[in-house]
Amino acid sequence: MPCEVTSRFVLLYGSQKGQAQSIAEGIAEEAKGHGLAADLSCLDQNDKYNLEEENSPVVFIVSTTGDGEAPDNALQFVKRIRRKTLTSDHFKHLCYALLALGDTNYANFCNCGKTIERRLQELGAKQFYATGFADDGIGLELVVDPWLEGLWNAIKGVLPNMASDRSAHLKENAEESKDLFSPDVRLNLLTIGERQDCTSAGTAGNAESQSRDVGLSTVLLASSLTHSLPPLSVSALNVPTLPPLYLKVSLQEEVLREVNISKALQMTRDDSVKTALLLELDISMIYQPGDSFDVYCPNRTTEVDNLLHRLSLYNQKHCLVNISLIKDTKKKGAQVPSHIPEKASLHFLFSWCLEIRSVPKKAFVRALVEHTCDSVHRRRLQELCSKQGAADYNLYVRDASLSLMELLTAFPSCSPPLSLLIEHLPKLQPRPYSAASSCLRHPGKLRFVFNVVEFPASSERLVKRRGLCTGWMFDLIHSGPFSMENTESSDSLPLPKIHVSLRSSCSFRPPSDPSVPYIMVGPGTGVAPFIGFLQHREETRKTHPDRVLGNTWLFYGCRHKDRDYLFREDLEGFVSSGTLTHLKVCFSRDDAVNDGSTSSAHPTKYVQHNLRRHSRHVTDILLKQNGVIYVCGDAKNMAKDVNEALVEMIRDELKVDQLDAMKHLATLREQKRYLQDIWA
Ligand code: FAD
Repeated sequence: MPCEVTSRFVLLYGSQKGQAQSIAEGIAEEAKGHGLAADLSCLDQNDKYNLEEENSPVVFIVSTTGDGEAPDNALQFVKRIRRKTLTSDHFKHLCYALLALGDTNYANFCNCGKTIERRLQELGAKQFYATGFADDGIGLELVVDPWLEGLWNAIKGVLPNMASDRSAHLKENAEESKDLFSPDVRLNLLTIGERQDCTSAGTAGNAESQSRDVGLSTVLLASSLTHSLPPLSVSALNVPTLPPLYLKVSLQEEVLREVNISKALQMTRDDSVKTALLLELDISMIYQPGDSFDVYCPNRTTEVDNLLHRLSLYNQKHCLVNISLIKDTKKKGAQVPSHIPEKASLHFLFSWCLEIRSVPKKAFVRALVEHTCDSVHRRRLQELCSKQGAADYNLYVRDASLSLMELLTAFPSCSPPLSLLIEHLPKLQPRPYSAASSCLRHPGKLRFVFNVVEFPASSERLVKRRGLCTGWMFDLIHSGPFSMENTESSDSLPLPKIHVSLRSSCSFRPPSDPSVPYIMVGPGTGVAPFIGFLQHREETRKTHPDRVLGNTWLFYGCRHKDRDYLFREDLEGFVSSGTLTHLKVCFSRDDAVNDGSTSSAHPTKYVQHNLRRHSRHVTDILLKQNGVIYVCGDAKNMAKDVNEALVEMIRDELKVDQLDAMKHLATLREQKRYLQDIWA
């Protein structure tokens, strides 16, 4: 029986979120059932395929990300095939089929697939099957399923043509250079089943199959890593028992990325009480309005070093830390904390794993007593963790945000062992920030804005300090290439980098139906997500000018109109373009009050005051128009005050008592029409 050589095809994918990859893997799996073998590779594994010399059909499955960009793992491929030096017959030998994945909710639908296809054709490649354009906006399967169904016949249809081209090519090669004949090349033209047929086939009927058999027998003379010979290949095997499985592993969708800070801008005047900074990151991931992301920052090196010095461990900072459980520990369910890596140096542990600035809990203070020699110090630590000393603990430790190091400085006779710190210091957490941009407006960029947290000096804390993450970012950009006036980086210094990951999707999103009216309440940096909402809305309006849009209200507030009014130009621009229908701003420390509407009897200092002033519209949107209210920013005061104002407004509007008004608000919350994104 002659051997078939026409059963292999190349399958390449470019995938951002795994959909294209999973479709490609499905095709590879199914290929066997169709008597075909797929050589599956990701487009960035260019050592696994060679399109320049490929003479089997090539199938591409590619998605599009961001604003029409290629997925990360297809970027290099796209770059390679776009080289201007390539001639118009570069891919003349290539036959391809392409399935493009995209989403019509975004600009440049299936742009990556279209770019690849255009370039393949410019370089002489021939399409053997009509390209599919699948839309995630309506369901990929509507195009993917029928496309896959037709793919198999298309491949089988093109294979014979390519095989005759190939055999001509092989014959040519064989005649030209018999010595250079490579058996491996021909072996991978065969499927396993076909190979078995070949070994028993004896002499083949035509010149082409003869040349194949020669190659094959050469291969089978030697075993290799992947192929065996008799007697091994035919003997019964004693295979060891399968070891039991014990791990469940999954990968979180969020990816930790190291990204450049491409822009930094001080949003407040130097005489403002708080300093707000805007950072822009170069980021390829897609995010939605309302999304937030985590910034990973280390503890300050000086603080880590000081603490290690204080513990007399500084000279061992590069030693690996071994941790195991005390055999006879009385602690129930004791286990090594999951945030402690198995192998890490002391310095790494203190820099990246433990929140060394966290306020020591009473249990920690209690444990410290045992390692304090001075009797006065012991007594005071005992008081601070006792029931009787609760008020003192709150005043001097908790409210003062005292860190362990500050406590140890105050109690110099206390020398805790390292184990106690690892037991009691919590995990160093990344800090979340809300996206203050839309990727429709700023493709490939993500902006956020933050206040630099300041902890003033006090009797317990002799030196003032900044918040951990905000202080770290502040230093990063002030020691980097940015000039705050210029905002763009200068060329002389490399861009600073930070690690970020997108937080799992939240419900803090603008309504999917743009005709639903909504209210945004976001004073200070709380306005951040609403800048994203409004940019997104403005861009969507440009592409869909005929859409009916509901009214949008934004209640914003800051201290001074001229010092810390964040995004002023942007907000006024949204009003002029009609993207934002009502902008209500108040300034808590300006004498002359904004908005032209405040009398001294009813000052409009804070957002809740403005909400009350527009109570009729607010309650109308919430109670009659099925609208939504979003509150973002300070949880301690603002969010509570706004909540209280809403209860009162509902109470007055519906003429119900306080309790019923609260129930109404709770219902809005359940219906996800009262949404909060608030932080301490
Ligand atoms: P830390 O060192 O962690 O200190 C902050 C802590 O200190 C807080 O508990 C605070 O209550 C307390 N504190 C603050 N000032 C003082 C003081 N003077 N004395 C004593 N204690 C004090 N922040 C933004 O600025 N912009 C955003 O867009 C944003 N989005 C967020 C989104 C989400 C979902 C969440 C949960 C938080 C968001 N935050 C945002 C808050 C942000 O994550 C950080 O908490 C904040 O930037 C402070 O981080 P830090 O490490 O600098 O401060």
